[in-house]
Amino acid sequence: MSLSTPILFVIAMLAVVVVGRIITSPEAPGRVAFALAAVASIWWIAMVVLRLNSAELPDKVLFSRLAWFGIVATPLFWSAGLLDHAGFSQVTRRMPVAIMLAASMIGGILALTDGYHQWIYTGIVNEERPSFSHGWLFYVLLGTMYLCMLLACLLSISQLKRSSRLHRRQMVALLVATCAPWACNAAFHLFGFRLFNDDPTPFAFSATVLAVLLAQHRGKLFIAPPIARDIIFSILPDPIVVLEPSGLVLETNPAAEKLTGFGVETVGTKLPSNHPLMDFVAPDRRDGAGKPIVHFDAMEKVFEVSVQPLEHWGRKGNVMLVLRDVTAREAAQKSLSDAGEALKLRLEENLRLQEKLEQQAFQDHLTGLFNRRHASTVIPPLLSDASEDEPVSLIILDLDYFKQVNDRHGHDVGDKVLSVFAMILSDNLQGAEMAFRHGGEEFLVVLPSTGRDRALERCARWRRALATHSIAELRDTPLSFSAGIALAPHAGASLAECTKAADVALYRAKISGRNTDVIWGEHLGGIGPEGPMEDGDAVDRRARRGRARP
Ligand code: GH3
Ligand code: MG
Ligand code: MG
Repeated sequence: MSLSTPILFVIAMLAVVVVGRIITSPEAPGRVAFALAAVASIWWIAMVVLRLNSAELPDKVLFSRLAWFGIVATPLFWSAGLLDHAGFSQVTRRMPVAIMLAASMIGGILALTDGYHQWIYTGIVNEERPSFSHGWLFYVLLGTMYLCMLLACLLSISQLKRSSRLHRRQMVALLVATCAPWACNAAFHLFGFRLFNDDPTPFAFSATVLAVLLAQHRGKLFIAPPIARDIIFSILPDPIVVLEPSGLVLETNPAAEKLTGFGVETVGTKLPSNHPLMDFVAPDRRDGAGKPIVHFDAMEKVFEVSVQPLEHWGRKGNVMLVLRDVTAREAAQKSLSDAGEALKLRLEENLRLQEKLEQQAFQDHLTGLFNRRHASTVIPPLLSDASEDEPVSLIILDLDYFKQVNDRHGHDVGDKVLSVFAMILSDNLQGAEMAFRHGGEEFLVVLPSTGRDRALERCARWRRALATHSIAELRDTPLSFSAGIALAPHAGASLAECTKAADVALYRAKISGRNTDVIWGEHLGGIGPEGPMEDGDAVDRRARRGRARP
């Protein structure tokens, strides 16, 4: 027994350990293929051990032929494992384990039946090992294996820069391990390099098995990133879609299959041009500010779209869309803005109401004139500024026989008379002049910078306007008023004094026959210039007592 036998035996045992560890490790890309590669290499090594320990040439030839099951299967599964691990599961999915197993079986059977066709071995060169001269199938099989390994290595190298640190370490370890059998096999066939006086390739493949073992221990192979990559893509609740510029769907995750227009069979088909996601394949739609929103009306859902341009194998223009369901957020935002809008309307309404209330606080609702309260606020400053050179006229106007209007024509007509008279007053105001409803059918007018003559002139103008009123119900009824005029500062400097004076003057106007104006302080009808400075109501009562419509 040569030294190589116990070494190969130990290696085979290690390979068994690797297979055991791979099988019990969590689900991960490349796991099954690597395990099968390890099994195949155990077979290969076992056949080498058996051959080395066989004495007879036919036995040696048989084990050399039997080794071919492993010789074909090992690089095939190793390449598949490498591809799977590097994220090319779409390649290995197209060539599943069953096909690779079948290929290995065919390779093995062709080797077993080589005695009949001699496609692999054309003759024995050295009966001791034994070594053979090779036929065309040998080179075809060898070439295929080399091609597989080369392709797997190149694809894995292409993935290195995109891999995370740990994953990259694992990949480098696996690639280095891959180079060993390759180099050994090439050296054996081209330069006759031997180990233990034999082909070094199975030893080198065993080294790859050791590399897997090491990677498992040190780099957490089959436990770390490659597991996550595939699984995350498939379990992510966010739909992910990869599109070509033409709208051809290159890849989707299961979450995307629930989108409108998508399904299990969508990959490989083109999206219709009116599909909402078609907006994102146009280059100008890819780099707008913020994340665009897309509405899937049929699903009643709203998605935010992250657009990721893809460059794969030098092909530009493809795009990966990651959609996030923001239906709830959009609905919340809408109800918030609706609530804000409603609040704004309520605030505006409140402001309007407040303005109305403020207006009502100093406005008489029937006539629209300022009310008595407002008079008490705005008139006093005017009166206190009055001087002999610039007197202020305060006039109280009282409709004559107004009670009769109410009694004969009704309260509504009475109201109309009040409104019409208020309009006559306000239409004839100028500058800072103001009119107020003093109460009932009495009105108060303040005319700054106005002396007696201009006050009388204003009264005459109002009188004319009232006499020619156009109230239909009172066509035949003449309307008139009496006015009492107080001139500040002559009549006083306060509102109370001036009002009282104007009231006295009004009383005099009433008792002198109505439809006239009296200025306080000017002699009339036997009543002294100062007159009785009584309160307005008393004057009014007395005036009423003496009334009689002509
Ligand atoms: P005089 O010439 O002496 O002033 O006689 P008069 O009838 O105008 O005076 P009196 O004080 O007797 O009557 C005033 C009436 O005005 C009594 C009241 O019914 C009426 N009046 C007071 N406020 C209103 C009102 O807002 N609308 C109506 N339609 N009438 C009112
Ligand atoms: Mg009155
Ligand atoms: Mg009256």
